[in-house]
Amino acid sequence: MQSMAFEEAFGALSGLQLDSLQLSRLRDWLTHLHLPGECLDLIERTAGTPPCPHCHCARVHRCGQASGLQRWRCLACARSFNALTGTPLARLRKRELWLPYSCCVLDSLTVRKAAAQVGVHPSTSFRWRHRFLPGAAHERHAQLVGMVEADETYLLESQKGSRRLDRPARRRGGVARRRGISRDHDCLLVARGRNKQTLDFHTGRGAVSTSQLERCLGPVLAPDVLLISDSARAYVGFAARTGIRHTAINVRAGERARGAIHLNNVNGWHGRFKTWLRRFNGF
Ligand SMILES: [Zn+2]
Repeated sequence: MQSMAFEEAFGALSGLQLDSLQLSRLRDWLTHLHLPGECLDLIERTAGTPPCPHCHCARVHRCGQASGLQRWRCLACARSFNALTGTPLARLRKRELWLPYSCCVLDSLTVRKAAAQVGVHPSTSFRWRHRFLPGAAHERHAQLVGMVEADETYLLESQKGSRRLDRPARRRGGVARRRGISRDHDCLLVARGRNKQTLDFHTGRGAVSTSQLERCLGPVLAPDVLLISDSARAYVGFAARTGIRHTAINVRAGERARGAIHLNNVNGWHGRFKTWLRRFNGF
């Protein structure tokens, strides 16, 4: 068995890009873990007595347990933390399921199958797929060509993707689409080619930004694509920075299409995704 330290695996889970050798080592490592609870034990063992992530002071003391993890309190700044504070994984719940879920990602299970296998809600599964092993979520060298539609959906974390999953309603009459988007919303970005090839991204919290578009779309757009989006500023900024050709549909002004320039395919994807999530909530 090829061995992998948890520290390395943890780095992989929280965002390092992995090559195929590293992925296969990670797969081996995960299949040798038996109990879901091992995930928490491993996090604790690896972290040892961590320094304060806020002020880096090493003088910390134990301060109870929370969510299955040891809590620490810093003697210098008096703030408390655990082994995950300050990492991309800090806010995710159901930690005991992370490693089993990672196995599903490595086995290329769909969001739906992974949710069923691990026993989490599909909207959780969707988020996790983009947090864990981002280097494995898409096929390597995936590239969108030709006309590419891009658009986002916002998912309010506390609503678990249920009733109010939707982006703000696309009403006519100048109601801003992004009205009400806050740091509590997870942004799911979808880019879709006219050949139906579709890539989705969890860009982070709040309205999508130019730099998030750059990080997600930059590597997957062929240099000569025509990117079609709504008139959100982030896309204009992205196009200007990368030199990607770009045209916008003015959805806010009620525009739907200009000939072949439209967002019907990507909106169809979002619509099906929302319908699919709702089924799990009994609506
Ligand atoms: Zn401190």
